[in-house]
Amino acid sequence: MNLRPAVFLDRDGVLIEDAHYVGCTSRVRLIPGAAEAVAALNRAGRAVVVVTNQAGVAKGMFTEAAVEAVHAFLAEQIAGYGARIDAFYYCPHHPDGEVAAYRTRCECRKPGAGMLRAAAADLGLDPTQSWMVGDRETDLAAGAAVGCRTVLVRTGYGAGVDATALDRDGLNLELVATDLADAVAKLGLGAAARRAA
Ligand SMILES: [Mg+2]
Ligand SMILES: [Zn+2]
Repeated sequence: MNLRPAVFLDRDGVLIEDAHYVGCTSRVRLIPGAAEAVAALNRAGRAVVVVTNQAGVAKGMFTEAAVEAVHAFLAEQIAGYGARIDAFYYCPHHPDGEVAAYRTRCECRKPGAGMLRAAAADLGLDPTQSWMVGDRETDLAAGAAVGCRTVLVRTGYGAGVDATALDRDGLNLELVATDLADAVAKLGLGAAARRAA
């Protein structure tokens, strides 16, 4: 079986503005250039997988149905740019959550790699040929744990991260990019987008 290369994307601060616990479609704002960047990844033959911590569920701020509604809305928004997310994975847990059903120290909450492992198994992906793009160190750690190379973006929380303090080797950090569009261009995966433009 041929395993596909993927690009794993954090959601808040990478695809959409990090508005702090986004549980409602009215608060979804695409980061400029992000939808076009996903379209370029689609054309480059990469599986595009969102892996997002949604502890707002464990904290009782919104339901899993609300998370899924946000994802459906996001998918619809980017479809307008010819872009497609192959799969969304989210972690609804938190070790200190208010909602008992979700109060657990799980393996899916990043920096745990459970969501990436599940996606790799479900979709037939090769993490060692894949990238993880995130705005927090925990995103990069989750990617590195399964052998992805990683990219830190300066959108969202990433604007304030001191990249010089990061363990570049331990995090497989290869690139610090302005935003997702810049990351895709610098990874050499945006050529198809430029030709199509
Ligand atoms: Mg984030
Ligand atoms: Zn979890």
